[in-house]
Amino acid sequence: MNNELELLRRRWEREKAARRQAEEIAEEKSRDLYLKSLELEKALAEESRLKDELEQLALTDPLTGLNNRRSFDIAAHQLVRVAIRLRRPLSLLMLDIDFFKKVNDTYGHAAGDTVLEKIAQVCRQYVRSMDLPARLGGEEFCLLFPETGVNDARLLAERLRLAVSAVEFQANDQIFSVTVSIGIAECSGEEDSLEMILERSDQALYKAKQTGRNCSVIWAAE
Ligand code: GH3
Ligand code: MG
Ligand code: MG
Repeated sequence: MNNELELLRRRWEREKAARRQAEEIAEEKSRDLYLKSLELEKALAEESRLKDELEQLALTDPLTGLNNRRSFDIAAHQLVRVAIRLRRPLSLLMLDIDFFKKVNDTYGHAAGDTVLEKIAQVCRQYVRSMDLPARLGGEEFCLLFPETGVNDARLLAERLRLAVSAVEFQANDQIFSVTVSIGIAECSGEEDSLEMILERSDQALYKAKQTGRNCSVIWAAE
C-alpha cells in the first residue's frame, strides 16, 4: 500500500514538474510573441509614416512647399466643378517672374532659388485657406481663388505684384529686386473647364509680357 502511494506521489511530482516546464515554455513563448508584436507595431507605424511622407512629397514642390502641378490639378478640377455646379465665381492668376534667366545669370542659381522661395512666401501671405497656390514648374506660379470674381482677383494680383517688387534680395554684395507679370482669367459658365481657364490666363500672361511686364492683365477675347 505504501509502495503504491509512493508511486502515485512520484507520478504526481513528475506531472507537476512537466506542467511547470510547459508553463515556463508557454510564458517564454508568449513573451517572445509580445515583443515581436511590439516590433511589428513599430514597423507598421514607421511604414505608415514613410507612406504619408512620400504622399506629401508627391504633392508638394520641394523648393517652395507649395502644391506642385499634380496636386494643383487634382484640387483645382474639384474647385472648378463646384464653382460651375453652384454657379459661384472663381478666378485664376498665372504669375511668371520677369527676366528670371537674367537673375540666375547675374546672381547665380542659388539666389534664383531664394527668389522662388520668397515669392512662394508672398503668395502664401495673400491667400485664404480655401485658395489654392501652386508652383506649376520653373518660375511659374498659379493661384486659384474660389468665390472670387475677376475684379477682386485683379486687386489681389496687383497687391501681390507690388509686394513682390518691394522685396529686396541680396547676392554677391549687391541688392536687387524682381518683378512679376500676371495673367488673370475667371470661370465663365457651365461650358468652362480648368484647362480653358488655364489657357485664357496663359494668354493674358503673354499679353502682360508683351505690354512691358511688371503688370497684370485680365483675359479678354480678341
Ligand atoms: P520672361 O520675362 O519672358 O519670363 O523671361 P525669363 O527670363 O523669366 O524667362 P525664360 O523662360 O527665358 O527663363 C526662365 C528661367 O527660369 C530659366 C531657368 O533657368 C529658370 N529656372 C527654372 N526653374 C528654376 C529653378 O528651380 N531655380 C532657378 N534658380 N531657376 C530656375
Ligand atoms: Mg516662364
Ligand atoms: Mg519668366
